[in-house]
Amino acid sequence: MRPSPSRLVLATKNPGKVREILQICSDWPVTWLTDQDAVAQGLGWPEVEETGRTYLENALLKARAAANATGLPALADDSGIEVDALGGKPGIHSARFAGQHASDQENLRLVVERITEVPPEARTARYRCIAACAWPDGRHRWAEGECEGRLILEPRGSGGFGYDPVFVPQGGDRTMSELSPERKNAISHRGRAFGALRALLFD
Ligand code: IMP
Repeated sequence: MRPSPSRLVLATKNPGKVREILQICSDWPVTWLTDQDAVAQGLGWPEVEETGRTYLENALLKARAAANATGLPALADDSGIEVDALGGKPGIHSARFAGQHASDQENLRLVVERITEVPPEARTARYRCIAACAWPDGRHRWAEGECEGRLILEPRGSGGFGYDPVFVPQGGDRTMSELSPERKNAISHRGRAFGALRALLFD
């Protein structure tokens, strides 16, 4: 099932995600329409409340809203970090862990605060991402990606976004923020989810 026409809306306003998704999907045979393009072309852009109970529900809410608003197939992701010592939190609430309009830094600080007393070997966590494509006629496809790692208490590095300065992917010592964008995308939950979705859409 190929997206038709070969234009895809990127249904996210998070600049960190837009940057990464466009890099990860740079070889997709499509023309992209971002939120800024849509507004400039008078297509409208929906405000979506993430009321779903799962990553999948939220990813589909975002993709479907953009598909309905623009009349084009739309791609969205929903993602988060799951900290084992916090029972899997913040999970789907990762973007607003420290409050509805909290910044990335405030969210990161709260997670670090909550795990300060946890022994280093128990500070395990994973990123999870669901990538979804929805068509205006109601069809959809989705795929999932994970990235295992551990948390540190002192942020390091300047790349990526969100919790990256305190997330050390499995098998290394550098934080996600210390990796090149190419390296992050090769191992990240988002890279894996969109890689799997690509196979569903185009192979
Ligand atoms: P949402 O998918 O828009 O609900 O937001 C996901 C939230 O999870 C982001 O705002 C970040 O806090 C966190 N997150 C998801 N992916 C990443 C990542 O690749 N690096 C760092 N934080 C991430």
